Amino acid sequence: MVEFRNVSYTYPNGQQALSRINLKIEDDEFVFVVGANGAGKSTLIKLLLRELTATEGEVTVNGFNLSSMKQRNIPKLRRTIGVVFQDFRLIPNMTVYDNVAFALRVIDAPTKYIRTRVPYVISLVGLTQKAKSYPNDLSGGEQQRVALARALVNDPQLIIADEPTGNVDPARSFEIVDLLKSINEECGTTVLMVTHQHDLVRYFGGRIININTGAVVFDEIIGGADEAK
Ligand code: ADP
Repeated sequence: MVEFRNVSYTYPNGQQALSRINLKIEDDEFVFVVGANGAGKSTLIKLLLRELTATEGEVTVNGFNLSSMKQRNIPKLRRTIGVVFQDFRLIPNMTVYDNVAFALRVIDAPTKYIRTRVPYVISLVGLTQKAKSYPNDLSGGEQQRVALARALVNDPQLIIADEPTGNVDPARSFEIVDLLKSINEECGTTVLMVTHQHDLVRYFGGRIININTGAVVFDEIIGGADEAK
C-alpha cells in the first residue's frame, strides 16, 4: 500500500517539485501515472524509494513510514519494491539467467531457492528459451522482460515501472503492459507505471493519476478500449 498525505517536496535550490500530494494506492491496484515533463513524476518515484525524503507531509509504502524511518531500514523497504527503468539497466556481460539471479545473490538468498525461483520468473515473462542469451542479443521488448523478471524475483509488494515502454517498439509496448497487468492480477503485486504513451493508457484504462506542476490534477478510473473487445 502506498499513501501520500499532504506531501510536498522542494529541492535544495528552492525548486518546488511536488505540492500537497494526497494519494492512496491499495495493494492489488494497477495505476498509470501520467504528466508532462517536469510535472514531478520522477520526484514522486524518488520519494517512494526513499532516495528523497518529503520536505512536508508523510509517505507510507508497504507499511514503512518513510518520513520517520531510520536510514538502516532503507534496504528493507527497497526489498519490498521492484523497479523497472526505461533503459533496462541490465548487466551486458551476464546472461539473462545471471541478470535475474544477481538480484537474489546480492541479498544472499539460499542457492537452492535461486535455482527454483529464477527459472520460474524467467518463464513468467516468457523467456525460458533465452535464459542463456546475453542482453545485447535480445530485442528491446525482450530486454525489458528480463528487467521485469529481475524486478519480480524478490517477490516485491510493489512494482514501479518508470516509462518501461519508452525504448520498446510500439507494438511490443502493449505486451509489456499486458505482462505487468497479468503479474498484478495473478501475483497481487501493486503496479505503478509512469508513461507518456496516451495510446497505452486509453487502450488499457484503469486508474489514471495525472500530475501537473507538482499537483494531482486528475485521479480517476476510466474504461479501456480492451474491455470493449
Ligand atoms: P518529471 O519526472 O515529471 O519530468 P521531475 O520530478 O523530474 O518531473 O521534476 C519536477 C520539478 O522539479 C521540475 O520543475 C524540475 O525542473 C525540478 N527538479 C527535478 N530535479 C531537480 C533537482 N535535482 N534540483 C532542482 N530541481 C529539480
